[in-house]
Amino acid sequence: MSDSVLEAPARPELANYVGGEWTPARSGRTYERRNPANPDEIVGEFPASGEEDVSAAVEAAANAFPAWSAMPAAARATVLMRAADAIEARVEEMAADMTREMGKPLREARLESARTAAIFRYFAGEAWRPQGELYEQSATGSTLYTLRRPLGVVGLITPWNFPAAIPAWKMAPALVYGNTVVLKLAQEAPLTGLHLAAALDETGIPEGVLNVVIGRGAEVGTPLVRHPKVRAISFTGSVAVGHQVREQATAGGKRVQLELGGHNPLIVTADADLGRAVEAAYAGAFWSAGQKCTATRRIYVEAPVYDEFRQRLLDRIHSGKVGDPTDPETEVGPLVNEKQLNDVLEAVEQGKREGGTVLAGGERIDDDSYLMAPTLFEGVADDAMLSCEEVFGPVTSLYRYTTLDEAIERANAVEFGLSAAIFTNSLTATQEFVQRAEAGLLHVNSQTAGADVHVPFGGIKGSGYGPHEQGRAALEFYTEVVTVYQDA
Ligand code: NAD
Repeated sequence: MSDSVLEAPARPELANYVGGEWTPARSGRTYERRNPANPDEIVGEFPASGEEDVSAAVEAAANAFPAWSAMPAAARATVLMRAADAIEARVEEMAADMTREMGKPLREARLESARTAAIFRYFAGEAWRPQGELYEQSATGSTLYTLRRPLGVVGLITPWNFPAAIPAWKMAPALVYGNTVVLKLAQEAPLTGLHLAAALDETGIPEGVLNVVIGRGAEVGTPLVRHPKVRAISFTGSVAVGHQVREQATAGGKRVQLELGGHNPLIVTADADLGRAVEAAYAGAFWSAGQKCTATRRIYVEAPVYDEFRQRLLDRIHSGKVGDPTDPETEVGPLVNEKQLNDVLEAVEQGKREGGTVLAGGERIDDDSYLMAPTLFEGVADDAMLSCEEVFGPVTSLYRYTTLDEAIERANAVEFGLSAAIFTNSLTATQEFVQRAEAGLLHVNSQTAGADVHVPFGGIKGSGYGPHEQGRAALEFYTEVVTVYQDA
């Protein structure tokens, strides 16, 4: 902890951040993280933490809670504003480390790092917004009001695919509303999150208010979810782990929020601007190598323009830049690790076995890195695995449809409901889509991915559980309401 914002940001320590100190795992154990674009390169040796580290972090957060929650919200906001400045001063460094540790192409890594500062600024502004409602008691006319209060220690569990934005959009609201935090970063991408911890440390945040612990899900996530002093868990990640986290958290009487996977459709009507629709399909399906919960997994194109759309998308795939993620021109970089690559390649094989045709890609394109070619299927049955299950890589499928009613029905026929998009010039089609599409995030004439900081983000159906994140929705999760009957 220090009292001034650094002008030249330091590299974060490759350690946990507990009680205001950079500390190794108490067991002394570490693990190596390698660069997915060059697996011979070791990005760093990080703590392989365990239950003892989680306990120390939760104790530090619990001790810090009374003073932090008693501060005026505007004073907490000052910390967030300074954090935004400190993040902005290190955007390039953070983006470069993000690219190195999880392979996100630099141009997207820069945007994500910069957005993180905006998230802190937005939530700093929450300090000046209403945190309750004023009424009148019906019998006497005396004062009656609601008051939102922080919960206490909150546990945040984050995935590797947005290693800056997701920790930030959980941490910033948790802190501004007066909670103290234990953040578990994903094992595959801890370095980016440590930049956030370093930026917060530079603000002079009181010790114990933010704690960051790195390690495996079972060894860090589970003890965090089970810890009796943790009041709430905000989790983003896969469906299987999310459901386990929900069971454990609710069994312990905790509040829980889940942001899970998606299987996001894009509908293209015959009157749409096909050029823009093709760009959106390419970006939605393949940027970040398709490793976004909001990536486009299914593209439904109206029959009269199907052949033209198909050809234009294939042309776009062939002209897209795939390769070295540190090149600012690169659009599609490697998958995060070898297991992920093998899982996606296996899913492609299953897609073929189930009758799908590969129009482009379908294979690994570099023996040294985890690069996979952008992959386009057609002829995939609506009940085939590729049409129903999330394959977390650069793989998408084309489907031909006849009526909008049919397209929306097929788009909705999955367990997920995170994001959905339509490209159309028809107001009627827009209205129909907005009323009926089963997803928490709807895009008209834009790609399925993308999230603004000041509006709710989250899925419905199997994609989410509990209040949404970001915007004013975050208030719901990170505070609890008490009702005050106040007579003079
Ligand atoms: P994951 O579920 O494997 O891991 C997420 C986090 O949970 C990691 O920090 C992991 O270490 C931790 N974890 C693992 N096992 C745990 C356990 N038993 N108890 C507690 N924590 C545990 O997910 P991932 O592979 O890191 O991320 C990819 C997934 O995340 C995809 O399914 C993607 O769709 C989803 N995702 C969803 C959103 C959203 O907002 N809806 C955003 C990004 C990613």
